[in-house]
Order: sequence, then C-alpha cells, then structure tokens
Amino acid sequence: MLVICDGMGDRVEREFGNETPLGFAKTPTFDRLASAGSVGLMDPISPGVRPGSDYATTALLGYDPRVCYMGRGGLEAAGAGIDLSPGDVAFRCNFSTVDDDLTVIDRRAGRIERGTIEIAETIRKIQPKGIKGLKIDFRATVAHRGVLIFRGRGFSRMVSDVDPHVTGVKILKCEPLDDSTAAKRTAAAVNDFVTQSFNVLKNHRVNVERIGERKRPANIVLTRGAGTLPPFKPLLELYGMSVACVAAVALVKGVCRIAGAELIAAEGATGGLDTNYEGKARAALKALENHDLVILHVKAPDVASHDGDFKKKASVIERIDEAVGKILPSLDASSTYVLVTADHATPVSVRDHAGNPVPLLINGPGVPSSKVSKFSENAASRGNLGRLHGLDLMPVISDYLGKAKKLGF
Ligand code: ZN
Ligand code: ZN
Repeated sequence: MLVICDGMGDRVEREFGNETPLGFAKTPTFDRLASAGSVGLMDPISPGVRPGSDYATTALLGYDPRVCYMGRGGLEAAGAGIDLSPGDVAFRCNFSTVDDDLTVIDRRAGRIERGTIEIAETIRKIQPKGIKGLKIDFRATVAHRGVLIFRGRGFSRMVSDVDPHVTGVKILKCEPLDDSTAAKRTAAAVNDFVTQSFNVLKNHRVNVERIGERKRPANIVLTRGAGTLPPFKPLLELYGMSVACVAAVALVKGVCRIAGAELIAAEGATGGLDTNYEGKARAALKALENHDLVILHVKAPDVASHDGDFKKKASVIERIDEAVGKILPSLDASSTYVLVTADHATPVSVRDHAGNPVPLLINGPGVPSSKVSKFSENAASRGNLGRLHGLDLMPVISDYLGKAKKLGF
C-alpha cells in the first residue's frame, strides 16, 4: 500500500521547535512503521524542481514527466472517465459568467450545481466554423467544471488559455504557442467555440431560470489547460503489478487510470479537508485483496498548505495516520509493504508547491530498520534509506514484491 499525502512535505518552522507539520503532528502509526522500516528523502523530480500534483504523480508512477507530460486536459478527461484517442485534444473548462462585452464577472457561474447536464447537451452541438474534420465532445463534470474534447486529426495542445484566471477583465484570445498549422487551427477553433458558447447560452432555458432566481448565469464556457493523452504503457506491463487507486482528485485519478490502475470509489471521499479518511483507508484495504499495489491518495494536507495553516496541516496528517492505523491490524505484516510519502512539498510558509524533497518511509518484510522515534523530514534527512528520485519508487516496490525483471544474465 502506497499512501500519498498530497503536499505533505514541508520546511522546518522555528516557531514550532524547528519541526515541520509532519514532525509536529502526533502520528503513532507512521512512527511505528518508520521505526521498524526505512526512512529517507525523495526528490519527486529532482532537487529544487517544483511540480504540480499531476506532474509529480506521473513521476511517482514511474513515467518521466519531462518526456511524457502532455498537459492537464487529457488527465482531467481521463479522471472524469472519458476515453481519449491519440490525436484528441482535451481542455479543462469552467462554466462562467460574463457581461455583454465578455468581461468576466464570475469564473464559476455562481458555483452552479444544477442544469449543467442540459447546458452540456447544447454545447456539444456547437460546430466551429471553417474547421474541417473536427468533432466536438463536451461533458459537464463536477459543479462549474467541464471537459471539452476536440476529436479528429491535425489539432494541437500547444494553445493558450481563454480563461484569464481572474475576474474584472475580458476573456483572453486563444493563441497558438508554436508555429505549427495544427496549433493555429486549434486556436481558431477554440476562439470560435467560445464565442458560439456565449451565443447559445446567454438565453438558454437554464440561465433564464437562474437569472429569475437572482443567480449568476452560466453564459460562457472558458477553456484552459489543453492536453493530450500521455503515452503511458500500463504499469502491469512495465512493473508486473496490478494497481488500484483510491483518490478523489480528477487529475490524480486521470494519471492512475491512463497508467492502467483500477479506480476505486470510496464513500465520502471529497478531495477536501472534510474527506472520509477512514472510508478511503477501508476502500484501500479491500482493494488490496485483489491487487498487487494500492495507492491511497489524500489531498487534504495540500489544501491546508495552500491555506498556510501549519496546525491544520498537522491535524489532517494526524487524521491520515489514524485512518491508516485502523486498517493496519488487518494487513498481513509478513507479506505486506506499506509506504508513506508525499507527491511534493507544499510548505505552509510558501503556500504553494516547492522543490524540497519529501519524506518517505518503507515498511515490510526484509526492510532494514531505521529505529527513528518519529516520522518527519528531520528524521528522513538522517534516514537509512538515503535519497531517492520519484522515478525510483515503482522499481523499488516492484522489486520488493518479487515482480521486477532481471536485466542482463
Ligand atoms: Zn500534489
Ligand atoms: Zn497544491
């Protein structure tokens, strides 16, 4: 079982006795696993490189993101259960509210909940003018979010965002990011699509109703994060492991799904601070019955980190520790490996991702004991595991499970 605590890695804070949130938190389960197992540091990419969660998770699953990261759109689409073909370009989208001169009033259209399926049906019928061989697909996903897919040949992910990411300014023009015909053609199609979305949505039945209820209309679709399907070979083929993933965040689910992992739904999993920690751990436990490797991903530490809240971050780490502690007695210690780490550091002092290494613990049969009293960045920096790269993680797990192929004679 690989427990990924999103953004858990941190920097020591003088105010908290030169400890990090993990070092400050009461984590009896992690401490026990760390003491009997090995601890060390891991650079998700390489020292000082700041990855996004999708980029870092790509590395942790054994795919070099510097070669095969293809933007966010394809991952978001895969996470939403949409199949992409090579050549398709996917965009992350928001239903947003703009005024008549296309100035953004609300990027989330009043956090619209109902009516998005109906709006999506209208959107799907849009056909950008003068673009041959383009088939539009569009899905509403969660709340104000959706995914737009350009299906066909001769399109490119190298185009800029229409979403300005702030309010009070006009929507942006989609621009090609390289000199290719495909990028120019894609940008033209996106601009026409966005204009048409405004034309068909401004008087849409759902919006007439929303305006009547004094809610902000979802009167435009703003695109961002164009991406294509990353060329991942299945984990089973690469590392001999059948893999399952318990996660709530669409981008993480997307990376895992494209890698061939089975996505396991857990009741009450939200991707927020209020997630069902124990429910996710129990879902992971169940998935271990018929998978070689189960990834348990919890977003909450990253959320607390972006809020810059040290104590909140420590407390959500404690909740993950507690949830893992509840299922630990049900695992067969003579044959099960438990790893705990983070996808990247999100120091509370920075409130964003940083290039620091993350702590890693490996516990299981044959793993040398570190005898540390506490699992923390401080302990990991003096740990017996040394320092790994994110790309080392899958080979290390595969080797312990007896699944790794021997190279040479
Ligand atoms: Zn992350
Ligand atoms: Zn983050």
